[in-house]
Parts: sequence; C-alpha cells; structure tokens
Amino acid sequence: MSIYILYTSYVDTKQQIKTRFSNNSLLIAERIKAGFQASDYVLRDIISQVSLSELQYPPTNTEKHQQRKEFIEKKRLTLPHATLAGLYDKNCILTHTNHIDGFDGSKREYCQVMQNEPKRKTFISQAFVSDGGLFNVVQVRKFNTKSGFLGMAAFGIDLSYFTELIDLPQETKLITIRMFDKNMRLIANKPFVLEDIGTISSEVFIKEFIESSDRVRFIDGLPSLYKKNTMVYLRKVDELPFIIVMEMTSKDGLAGWYRHALIIFFFLFSILLMTIAIIKNNLKIIEQNKILVDKEKKLHLLATTDSLTGLLNRHGIKSLVEQEMKRFNRKKYPVSLILIDIDNFKVINDNFGHPIGDKILQLLSNSLQPIIRDADYIVRWGGEEFFILATDTPLANATILAEKIRALVEGLSQAELPPFTVSIGVAQYKKQDSFDNWYTKADNALYKAKEDGKNQVAVANDNPLIL
Ligand code: GH3
Ligand code: MG
Ligand code: MG
Repeated sequence: MSIYILYTSYVDTKQQIKTRFSNNSLLIAERIKAGFQASDYVLRDIISQVSLSELQYPPTNTEKHQQRKEFIEKKRLTLPHATLAGLYDKNCILTHTNHIDGFDGSKREYCQVMQNEPKRKTFISQAFVSDGGLFNVVQVRKFNTKSGFLGMAAFGIDLSYFTELIDLPQETKLITIRMFDKNMRLIANKPFVLEDIGTISSEVFIKEFIESSDRVRFIDGLPSLYKKNTMVYLRKVDELPFIIVMEMTSKDGLAGWYRHALIIFFFLFSILLMTIAIIKNNLKIIEQNKILVDKEKKLHLLATTDSLTGLLNRHGIKSLVEQEMKRFNRKKYPVSLILIDIDNFKVINDNFGHPIGDKILQLLSNSLQPIIRDADYIVRWGGEEFFILATDTPLANATILAEKIRALVEGLSQAELPPFTVSIGVAQYKKQDSFDNWYTKADNALYKAKEDGKNQVAVANDNPLIL
C-alpha cells in the first residue's frame, strides 16, 4: 500500500516537473516570438515608407540620405532590443545605418539566404559576432518585389535581450535555463554567465534534439547517456532558429518526494518495530504459558501417580472410573473391577524387611502391566492392594484375567525376593451402582478369597459366574 502511494507520488512529481518545464519553456518561446513579431512590424513599416531607388551607397543626395538615416534610427528606438538598424541594397551593401554605412554584408548568412531564396520574405539569423565585437542575431525583411531580391531592412539584436527573456523570476533557482541557436551556440543562460555566451555546445542530447523532428523532448536523465540524474526539457521555438533547454537535477526536483518517502519509511519502520515488539512479547507469553502448562502437567502427574510403582494412585483413577461408569450407564459398555491383595504381606515385611516388601510391590506392578490391555488401568489403591479397571470387560472375562494374574504371581521368582501370592476379588459394574457399592462388592469377594485360603480368585456374590 505504502509502496503504491510512494510510486504514484513519484510518478506524479515527475509529471508535475515535466508540466512545469513545458509551461515555462512555452512562455519563453512565446515571448521570443512576440519580440520578433514586434520588430517585424517595424521592418514592414520601414520598407513601406522607403523606395528602392533610395538604396544607394555612396548616397547621391546627402541631405536626403541623412534624413532617411534619422528615420531609421527613430524606428530602431521604438524597439528596446534592437541595437542596429539598417537598409541593404540588392548586393547587400548597407546603405543606411546607425552604425557604419557602406558595410558589405554579402558574406553574411542572412544576405546569402535572402539572395538565394527569392520567395523568402523574412529571415532570422543564427548568432554571430558583429563588427562591433558583440554577439548578434539579425532579423531581416526584404522589399516587396515581383522578381527576386532587390534590398532589405534589418535589425541587429543583442544577445542580452534573450537573457532578459528567459528570466523567470517566479521560478525556482534550481532550474537552469539555456537558449541556443541551431548551430548550438549559446545565446542566453540563467543563471547568467557572460563567458559562456557565444560558445558552441557539444552536448549530444541537444544535437540529437535539433536533428530530430520533435518540437519538445523530456529526458528523465537517469540513463547516463545524457546528463546523469538530471531532468531535461528541450523546446524548439517553432519556425525561429532557437532552442530552449531547461534542466533540474533529480535530487532538487524530487526533494519534496524524498521528504514524503522519508516520512512513509519512518512510519513503516515504526510499525515494523512495533510489530517485532508485539511478536516478541507474544512469544514470551507463549513460552511462559508453555512452562506453566508443563509445570501443571508435572504436578498433575505427581499428584496422580504413585511414586514407588509409577502406577496411577487413588486421585489419578477417580475421573477415569467415573467416566467408565457413565459409559456403561449410557451405552452399556461392561466394566469390571479386579481387586488384588498380596497375601501375608505383613509377614513378608517382618521376615525380609520393608525394602524387600517395596521390591515385591514394584515386581508385582511391573508384572501386571504387560498383561493388561491399553484400554485398562492399573491402580495402586493403597498399601499392598491394587486394582485393575478392566474396560469393555464383562465379569466372565475379568475372572479369566484375574485367574491369569493369580497364576502369574504364583509363578514369579526373582533372586533375593521371596515367593508371594495374591488373592483377587472380581466385581462387574451394575447399573446405577455407586463406586463405593461396586468396590465393596469386589472387596467382599476378596475377603471371601482370603477366607477360603488365599491365593485364589473370588467373584462378587450377586454376579453369577458364567464361564
Ligand atoms: P492378608 O493376607 O490378610 O492380606 O495379610 P497381610 O499381612 O497382607 O495384610 P495386612 O493388611 O494385615 O498387612 C498389610 C501390610 O502391608 C501392612 C504394611 O506394613 C504393609 N505395607 C503397606 N504398604 C507398604 C509399603 O508401601 N511397603 C511395604 N514394604 N509394606 C507395606
Ligand atoms: Mg491388605
Ligand atoms: Mg495383604
């Protein structure tokens, strides 16, 4: 989004610069044209009042010659930019002038053009050094004749006139303006540098423009073929032999845009920093939460497992038992309780010591684990009493499992440990039983197994055993 704004404002800025160049150069071109038009009116006036027969040098009638000279000088003074005024005869000899009468102008460009192109009525010359040592442009208009060239009236225009014309006080100092004639001779510049006036430029982009048929040309300047990082605008002054060149460095032209871009980048950078800060903070929170969750898990594990055997303890089995009871009440999944008690454990402890008793408890729990399914739970209920919550297991299957356990324990033998046996009570969960009821039935069965001589399995009373 910001990139888009920056891009469009960049394009807009460039477009604005181009428009400014275009308008300003057009204004200058119009001024030049208007200046030459004004002097052309005066030239028309002169040739309408002078007869061809007067174009003679040396003069035959000195008095009349003098009057005519004064007339021409008066006309010249109506134009602030005309430094020279004169009449030429058909051989381009200057017959009347405010300067040096009798000057032979036949080698001058304007004379040759007018003599060689009989249909041409006016001409504006390229800049050249006049006899007075100043750079000049000469504007001429020939006497109206049906046949060829018989004479003309001329004004010499000092180049300082153009420097006045290209001055645009309302424009920024950052824009340089130059004016060339078609020979690429500099005739005006801003900022004004006197030494440069009259020099011939060798800049390729100006030459290319003059040779092209383009009336205007905008060079963005970035291709280093031209002036590096400079925006250039060139304009031809229509039919007049002048070219206006305006230039501004991209740096100056885009200064406003750079400020704009800087603000946007600063803004984006702040957002980036903020985002990083927020993400960092969030990661920290996530990390802390993870630590908390891990701690809770550990605490939960500690609270729900028995440290000696690693089996679930009373707390750990509570919710699981309730879940299984609900499952049965809802969907009739049978669930049985297998209560296991080590026989004569007190005696074992007394005879072999408590640590051996502990080892027996660990051996029993380790032996039980491989023979139950994943879905079943083994719980150390207390002391030397364990139970198995056998899910999806009806009484008959639970009894078979119980017998398997009893037999397994009887067969256990491990070095340094005395043999031991277990008595087992089995009870299936009945609908709407409380856990206490269910447990009591299993406990009663266990009591019966002890009564009947231990090392055996007994089944709860109200569950007829079907094998
Ligand atoms: P019965 O065959 O009737 O079950 O006799 P018993 O001796 O096994 O039963 P009683 O309930 O009289 O004794 C249980 C003994 O288990 C008492 C206690 O010292 C011992 N005991 C309980 N918990 C532990 C334990 O964590 N480690 C050890 N080594 N002994 C324990
Ligand atoms: Mg006991
Ligand atoms: Mg016991």
